[in-house]
Amino acid sequence: MSVVNDPGSPMYVPEANRRIARERAEQHVKLIKDFLEIRDRISTGMKAWDRIIERKERILKVLEATDEDWNDYRWHLTHGITSTETLSRIIDLSPEAIVDIEKTTSLYRWQISPYYASLMDPKDRDCPIFKQAVPTIKEYLDTKTVEEPYALAYNSPAPLITRLYADRIIINVTNMCATFCRHCLRKKDIDLKDMVYPREDVRAALDYVAQCPEIRDVLITGGDALVLPDDYLDWILTELEKIPHVEIKRLGSRMIATLPQRITSDLCDVFLRHKPLYLNTQFNHPLEVTPEAEAAVDRLINAGVLVGNQSVLLKGINNDKHVMKKLVHELLRIRIRPYYIFNCKKLKGIRHFRAPVADGLNILENLRGYTSGLGVPTFIITAPEGKGKTPLAPTYLLNYNRNGKLLFRTWAGEVCEYEDELLEP
Ligand code: SF4
Repeated sequence: MSVVNDPGSPMYVPEANRRIARERAEQHVKLIKDFLEIRDRISTGMKAWDRIIERKERILKVLEATDEDWNDYRWHLTHGITSTETLSRIIDLSPEAIVDIEKTTSLYRWQISPYYASLMDPKDRDCPIFKQAVPTIKEYLDTKTVEEPYALAYNSPAPLITRLYADRIIINVTNMCATFCRHCLRKKDIDLKDMVYPREDVRAALDYVAQCPEIRDVLITGGDALVLPDDYLDWILTELEKIPHVEIKRLGSRMIATLPQRITSDLCDVFLRHKPLYLNTQFNHPLEVTPEAEAAVDRLINAGVLVGNQSVLLKGINNDKHVMKKLVHELLRIRIRPYYIFNCKKLKGIRHFRAPVADGLNILENLRGYTSGLGVPTFIITAPEGKGKTPLAPTYLLNYNRNGKLLFRTWAGEVCEYEDELLEP
């Protein structure tokens, strides 16, 4: 007998109550009606996959390469697109755009992995991949923005280390990446000569970690940590595990989005030996979430790696509540946990990507309660001079006094009173 029709069952709900519940559900659905109407019109890497495959074929032809090359991350790293001549054979570029790119790249480094280029719409100049990967004259013309005093100058107590907090540190192992993002906060380092930093410098960083018993969490990043060869990564992770107070290791890499072929079975064999290991990546638009990225995440998860996402809030790319909600949904589907949204910094050459802080708060306002809590990242502004990440969030607490009562608003805007425990005198 069905348990829901038995009045003696704990799962029994009278029909009148069900009616009220259905009305409440309808009210909730109305609150996300705008998203439901637009969500299927937001482009994703899953929906655009046929077009991406066509672009891949075009790129292989232009670069005179094979499917075997395409599946080899080393080929992508050595065949990054770095000339307008090649790019204009892959996407439509006006003569003016070519002149602009050449001007800008006289100041700033650029490279697009063939894989990431395949995600680009060949004609649409509003394409979120194009905007993140192809230099524009706005970078060149940004002569007024003052460069922030380099945080490393005040926060690097030992070689290659950035230390902003007590119990965790960063070791910067390279300034190289598969694709140089136009919005990169580390543009200044990236634009130097390509380097994987030598073991002797990393050794000095590891020695510093060993001397600080309060450090329990080490982030290996760059640039992109996965530029390092497997044996180099294996060595660093092994050395960290010899330090008894290091509890967890983290890797910073955008390659799941820009070059998922890098997640090879050999690399995963290395990762399997080094639990607990976390990897934070950077997806900024649902168009980056492709079947290829999903397969890379599957391999990482099978190797015991937990993957989180750190988006950057980018004007004209994702500073929109619907695009960001679609992004977190796509990420959760491929088992990446949305972790941070960073506000873009006011740095030279990237200022045109900055959106107002209000856009970030609006995105958070439209995620919390409107979708799974798992999909709600923390919105972060980074304090100047390396003073650390500062979370910003919409205000829910309206009043908190000492008489044991709280006044707050819910995600849907209802004001509620809540009885708290009285503070001890
Ligand atoms: S992958 Fe990260 S470090 Fe590299 S260019 Fe992009 S944002 Fe900068």
